[in-house]
Amino acid sequence: MSGEYVNMWKELGLDLESHDQLLSVLGQAYGDIFLSQKNRPEGMKYFDFVVSEVHGLRIREIMEEKAKGNIIVGTFCVYVPEELVLAVGGVQIGLCAGAEIAFEKVEEYLPRNTCALIKSSLGFRLGRLCPYTQAADFVVGETTCDGKKKAYEIFGEMKDVYVMEIPQMKNDADRALWKKEIGRFTAELEKRSGRKITAESLKKGIQTVNKKRAVLQRLAAIRYKYPFVISGRDALLVNQVSFYDNPERFTDSVAKLCDELEERGKKKISIGEAGAKKILVSGCPMAVPNWKVPFVVETSGATIVAEESCVGERNTRNAVKDSGSSVDQLLDNIVDRYMKINCACFTPNKERIEDISALYASSGADGVIHYSLQFCTPYLVESKKVKDLCDSRNMQFLAIETDYSSGDMEQLKTRIEAFIEKI
Ligand code: SF4
Ligand code: SF4
Repeated sequence: MSGEYVNMWKELGLDLESHDQLLSVLGQAYGDIFLSQKNRPEGMKYFDFVVSEVHGLRIREIMEEKAKGNIIVGTFCVYVPEELVLAVGGVQIGLCAGAEIAFEKVEEYLPRNTCALIKSSLGFRLGRLCPYTQAADFVVGETTCDGKKKAYEIFGEMKDVYVMEIPQMKNDADRALWKKEIGRFTAELEKRSGRKITAESLKKGIQTVNKKRAVLQRLAAIRYKYPFVISGRDALLVNQVSFYDNPERFTDSVAKLCDELEERGKKKISIGEAGAKKILVSGCPMAVPNWKVPFVVETSGATIVAEESCVGERNTRNAVKDSGSSVDQLLDNIVDRYMKINCACFTPNKERIEDISALYASSGADGVIHYSLQFCTPYLVESKKVKDLCDSRNMQFLAIETDYSSGDMEQLKTRIEAFIEKI
């Protein structure tokens, strides 16, 4: 990215000096982790381009949308329905962050023992380093884990924040609460955009997001069938890009990548060694540029073949039904689909364990790595349940608890290598 965007970044209020440093560190990491891979699919070039322009061209597009009067909505959780934002002509951007930024400053607001994902998201705001956060008209928080709930109060002192109440259980009363919240969010979007959601606009929004999820499910299924046609790192990157790219263009690009991967599968073109161990990663979401664990796993003799994660199949399974002729019927379909996201913030949450079991079988994985961020109580607690599942089914299991620093790279490598050797 070059000087051509400097004025735009200035107008967005970025800290230009620190921002330059960030881009240079990211560029280096990207080269080491992604571009250094051998025999990568050609279709990844689109995603390399998107990443190279992540604070440039895409931000310019977003500013153009804003200039046309379309609202820009920042989110931190896959529970916020993009279908509704699209139905008012808006743009939805995922703002979760995956790097240690301004943590010293963040710790003036949040306890040190807050998970890295929350600290990072606040750090990008405090450090004025995220053009997406700066460009968003408002951000949507949610009542998922306690850390996020409290962090939104602080975020709200710096940015316009709207909070959705997410149910904590999966009973009828919880569904009724969620339906009400979806209605409240619909009204909020209509008020902010000055546009009314119609059955037609909502159906279109549903179909656009369904297509995006379907193509990501297609990519997932290709990896089950041909596990070595694409690395887990690249597949993760595709999922990460889905949170901020234009949805239609993204869907087309993933479809082209999938066409190529199927051809590679038939011709037995592989990115790695045949016989590498296949790993299912399950747990906390990995936001850009959190690539540490996949990099360690895939440079230790294994390939990641599936992710039970919100940057992965927890977010892409299940479509919203687009049948129904009224807004209310379509909203009901949205409510039903989103109640099936089996986040560890729910109690009880046996469905997530069932999902892991099913994904292990369908992906043909040889072992499960459970990935938790330090201080993430919901996923750390559920780690034991995942271990119990694995023990009962003779599935190899390793639990990892880490953060965004590189300080534990060596230790992680030792543990992961030993695990891969064992399976
Ligand atoms: S893990 Fe839970 S809180 Fe985090 S994005 Fe997923 S659904 Fe939202
Ligand atoms: S990783 Fe865990 S603690 Fe952090 S925001 Fe997600 S659910 Fe909350």
